[in-house]
Amino acid sequence: MDDYALVLNAGSSSLKFCVYRRPSGAAWGLEARGQIEGIGTAPRLTAKNAAGEKSEEALGEDVRDGRAALDRLAAWLRGRYGGSRVLGVGHRVVHGGPSFSGPAVVTPEVMEELRRLVPLAPLHQPYNLGAIEAVTERLPGVPQVACFDTSFHRGQPAVAELVPLPREIRDAGVQRYGFHGLSYEYIASVLPEAAPEIAKKRVIVAHLGSGASLCAMKDGRSVDSSLGFTALDGLCMGTRPGALDPGVVLHLFQGLGLSPKDVEAILYKKSGLLGVSGISNDMRDLVDKDDPQARLAVDYFVYRAAKEIGALAAVLRGVDALVFTAGIGENSAEIRRRICEASAWLGIELYDAANAARGPRISRVNSKVSAWVIPTNEELMIARHTGRLLGLSA
Ligand code: ADP
Repeated sequence: MDDYALVLNAGSSSLKFCVYRRPSGAAWGLEARGQIEGIGTAPRLTAKNAAGEKSEEALGEDVRDGRAALDRLAAWLRGRYGGSRVLGVGHRVVHGGPSFSGPAVVTPEVMEELRRLVPLAPLHQPYNLGAIEAVTERLPGVPQVACFDTSFHRGQPAVAELVPLPREIRDAGVQRYGFHGLSYEYIASVLPEAAPEIAKKRVIVAHLGSGASLCAMKDGRSVDSSLGFTALDGLCMGTRPGALDPGVVLHLFQGLGLSPKDVEAILYKKSGLLGVSGISNDMRDLVDKDDPQARLAVDYFVYRAAKEIGALAAVLRGVDALVFTAGIGENSAEIRRRICEASAWLGIELYDAANAARGPRISRVNSKVSAWVIPTNEELMIARHTGRLLGLSA
């Protein structure tokens, strides 16, 4: 009987999954990956197996929440891999708080601690934990591992983690945590092979997806990042504004009389590329559009990225390399070109042909600071952690 392991990334409207298989006597390999999207609106399951064969099915409207989505995924998995043994399940969990500086095997005590962090990530943590609970119910006895988006950033200098508010507020957990840590950890893990000359140097990694952030790394460790207490800080994102004067938020409450729910929706769902362009949160719809608001949105995206790269270069006291990753970072040669051009003062000289071909190295040979495109793989990072903690690698 073949062994299987699962990776789950449960969000508010999507459930992403990977299935890993270990045929007897052989090594682990990716068997399938896919997602259920549109949970609560127009749910749809799409998946691709290792041979590249795609499957796609519309799901009924009864798939209204994460639990129902997991039920459907369980049925889909049974249909394909029924009767096989699941050796472990790895989960993405957005918040590990100040104490989890690495992944953790799920126990009732760990869950209790993670539930305490829900107020710090109300839009993500409940869904992540809901998936763990659902698996515990359906597959009791199958070990699970929680992998955190914050862990990679623990160990930063105190000034990088500080939110300079009064002590009692800080003592209640208000600090800069940083996110996208599984992506950054993956990039750090592949640099020794993919770009050995920079692996131990001062590197700024730009994770530019629908959420976007930067991480300043020295010797493969995070020393600062552009996301802070929540995933709202730093760069302009698909629907989030990035760094804002907090006085604006006060004004939304006090001046405009908006409710907390309204303000939350503005900050998480209606701002950023979508809010500025009034057209779309998707860079593909904006990057070549001949529309003044779309142009402003893209200009702002590039401007903020370049400004923050300058800030992190100051933190690192110089920079040796810039690495692009995630949806926009991996796929948009134009955005990479514009960010590199805006950062030319640092000593980045782009090599256009390599940029068009997605690198991996996209800077000129003599460029003082090198630039790279390295695809991220957060699911593989979760699978590696899960395998290691559960002793499945052998
Ligand atoms: P998530 O943060 O949801 O995991 P991804 O890292 O997959 O997101 O990035 C998704 C985003 O990447 C899309 O919203 C889209 O804006 C952007 N994207 C994907 N392909 C391209 C492309 N060819 N050109 C510009 N942007 C792209």
